[in-house]
Amino acid sequence: MTDAHLIDGKAIAADVRATVARQVSALKDSHGLTPGLAVVLVGEDPASQIYVRNKGKQTIAAGMQSFEFKLPADTTQEDLLAQVAALNADPDVHGILVQMPLPGQLDENAVVNAIDPDKDVDGLHPVNAGRLSLGEEGLVACTPQGCMILLERAGAELEGANAVVIGRSKLVGKPMAQLLLGANATVTIAHSRTRDLADVCRGADVLVAAVGRPEMVRGDWIKPGATVIDVGMNRLEAPDGGKAKLVGDVAFDEAKAVARAITPVPGGVGPMTIACLLLNTVTAACRQAGIAVPSV
Ligand code: NAP
Repeated sequence: MTDAHLIDGKAIAADVRATVARQVSALKDSHGLTPGLAVVLVGEDPASQIYVRNKGKQTIAAGMQSFEFKLPADTTQEDLLAQVAALNADPDVHGILVQMPLPGQLDENAVVNAIDPDKDVDGLHPVNAGRLSLGEEGLVACTPQGCMILLERAGAELEGANAVVIGRSKLVGKPMAQLLLGANATVTIAHSRTRDLADVCRGADVLVAAVGRPEMVRGDWIKPGATVIDVGMNRLEAPDGGKAKLVGDVAFDEAKAVARAITPVPGGVGPMTIACLLLNTVTAACRQAGIAVPSV
């Protein structure tokens, strides 16, 4: 059997960002509307700082307005909620993202719940989670939305397919399962209490791993010809103190010998998340203005 087709998330994300840039340009020309994304960062977590910087850069590169708010690590709940309320009320801000995780004194759920659901471009507000589960129009969490685009671009047949999602987080696993269900797949959600996980996975035409355990999914868990989406991002420190290596939840070399198509880590799902954040910001801006997303 030949090796699996590599699903190139980097190239597909670049393509999505180019589409967003064309949409933004069309919105400026036709309606004088510039979508705006506000990102709130509390504290100095180095990884979060990198994410926020990248989001800002890509927002500007797509022609949108980027607003960044850096609050000190000892910010109170009251002050953070006041910041969110100000952004909810700002007509130039169409999307709001509060970078997680937040310092321990802050209640993440209360902060997410305070964001106007129509500006919740992370798709984490209970209203948006509810809309997704009811099959209604809302804003969809970025990473699973990115996975759906990758599946589509990889030509995966979803209708009637057996799809297994490993992981049931609010951020990835649950919305991923809802999206696959919406695409008429037969969906199984596996988690840490699932019995015979390897066996469950062997039935999957489409396998999505969102666990956070390096290379947990082995080659012999994969159905020959399956499409594999690896959401995991696990940093393995080099034993000699050298450069850390990023690996997914799937043992890539084993899996690519069995699957039909597979995402690499890095360069698979990762780049899609920010691209979908930009897509969501355009969608949010258009809905708030009562206009259709330009077809470009
Ligand atoms: P999470 O909130 O920690 O959820 C992990 C899920 O995996 C849980 O549902 C857990 O089950 C399940 N799990 C843990 N150990 C398991 C095992 N041995 N067997 C089966 N299931 C197991 O993580 P997350 O936020 O969903 O993220 C998952 C991974 O995706 C992480 O590596 C994260 O870094 C990565 N990620 C990547 C992106 C991206 O842009 N590429 C975005 C978000 C997340 P229980 O519910 O039973 O505990």
